[in-house]
Amino acid sequence: MSPLDQLDRPLAALEELRMLTDAVPVLISFFDENLVCRFANAHHNRWYGRSPQELIGLPMSEFLPPEIYAKRLPYLARVAAGEQVSFDAPVPHRDGTLHDAAIRYVPKMGPRGFAGFYTLVFDVAVQQHRFRSVFDGNAVAFWEIDVSGVTALLMAEVERGVTDPIAQLATDPLRIRAAMDAVRIIDVNDKAASLFGVDRDAVAGRSVSRFWPPASETAFVGSVAASFQGDATYEVETVLLRADGRLVDVLFTCAFPRDAGPAHYVTVGFVDISERVAKERALAKVQADLAHAARVATLGELTASIAHEVNQPLAAVAANGNAALRWLNRPVPDIGEVKAAIDRIIEEATRASEIIARTRALAMKGETERQVFCPNTMVHDAVALVRRQLDAGGVELRLELADDLPPINADRIQLQQVTINLMINAAQAMADQPAGTRQLTVASRHEGDAVLFEVADTGPGFPGCDSSKLFGAFYTTKPTGMGMGLSVARTIVEAHGGVIDAYCLGEGTGAAFRFTVPAHDGDDCPNHTQV
Ligand code: ADP
Repeated sequence: MSPLDQLDRPLAALEELRMLTDAVPVLISFFDENLVCRFANAHHNRWYGRSPQELIGLPMSEFLPPEIYAKRLPYLARVAAGEQVSFDAPVPHRDGTLHDAAIRYVPKMGPRGFAGFYTLVFDVAVQQHRFRSVFDGNAVAFWEIDVSGVTALLMAEVERGVTDPIAQLATDPLRIRAAMDAVRIIDVNDKAASLFGVDRDAVAGRSVSRFWPPASETAFVGSVAASFQGDATYEVETVLLRADGRLVDVLFTCAFPRDAGPAHYVTVGFVDISERVAKERALAKVQADLAHAARVATLGELTASIAHEVNQPLAAVAANGNAALRWLNRPVPDIGEVKAAIDRIIEEATRASEIIARTRALAMKGETERQVFCPNTMVHDAVALVRRQLDAGGVELRLELADDLPPINADRIQLQQVTINLMINAAQAMADQPAGTRQLTVASRHEGDAVLFEVADTGPGFPGCDSSKLFGAFYTTKPTGMGMGLSVARTIVEAHGGVIDAYCLGEGTGAAFRFTVPAHDGDDCPNHTQV
């Protein structure tokens, strides 16, 4: 390389740098330590209507009107102290308007300290215009909110030594309300104004608290947690409160700003899902009605069994009552025997009333009702209602119930209905088998995150061991069958988040029906309820 080439290199590099900065639609300049412009890119021409040559040598105070320059002084002091500063501020444009700009001052430090600073000025009016057109002209309801108040609350807790301020927030309704009070609305779009029944201007500056009913506190805390953890988005279905006090089902979504640091302004969206939720509720009601109709039909098949289950203890009550009277009528009444007879009466009467209560529960129509219970108690209740029917059909019942099951959160009556249906089907399938070979096994076990129930028989199985048709509505191979039992069972199991299917190994080897119900997190079943 010749010495001449070496001389040219810095010049060429400078030229390249100028070409590069001129091509950028951003104001780029350099001011020396006396705030005199030493470099300005070509974009200054388009923004100020003054060429770089005209600007170089001018102090910064001549770039800006005095009142705007005065507002820059605190930032200039900070950059002179060696700090890189970023801020948003208006900058005069050659068309006479003020353009909102994102401004950054980057200090240049020399051997003797502060040697000047680079400035970068981005026109954000275009982006803001784009944002406004999306914000205003949208079918989705938007709120632009200021969340800095909540961030400040959480940071104050961290400074006080709280290690998990979100967990602290989540467990204290008063803190949640205070956090809601601290979130301020900057603006809402027309869609949000009509969704919440508010006046767009009146709502600006107010807190969001009035729109969040207590039932939606978890959703609110979830969004604060997502923002605090630095997640990109948060989405949840919840209910919010309109100004007129009506509740509205919404899909609530947040997209948090991507740049590092705690979010200040966040735009959150709401999609009105009330229509969908209403349809889902109507569908759930139809399904519940259908399940009820199927239960009543099943009860019809169980009449003989239930009558026997009730008659037997009632007969025992009568017999023990007579015996008690006889012991009393003796010349010397035997009070010990009388007491024993009365104890038996109470025991038998309790048995009868339990069967009646179970039957009544199955016959009752009601909204589906979930509760946390131990799975085997449900199996025992179901067995109590069909036992007599099994006896009459010469079916030998085996229970293989695991004693380490977790509880489940389910509609007990509906699961009983499923289990009873499977047991009756099994008994009917084995009706033509030789006596002594009719075995019904009801098992439960813990499998993965679920409890698995199995009802297996030694009947003929089903054609080709293909279970795909069995669960279809109105599929039946019985002369008086309705073909609804398994179809309703599938609806019930799937509504619980489980699966149901049928298996057989080959013709004549029997059938097994299995269904699962997700385990409920929490305590184990106490041992005595497993029996
Ligand atoms: P239904 O009992 O009124 O026929 P289900 O929906 O309960 O209605 O059952 C549908 C069909 O599935 C039955 O008709 C029968 O063909 C078949 N099926 C059910 N359970 C068994 C079983 N344990 N073994 C063999 N086939 C069965």
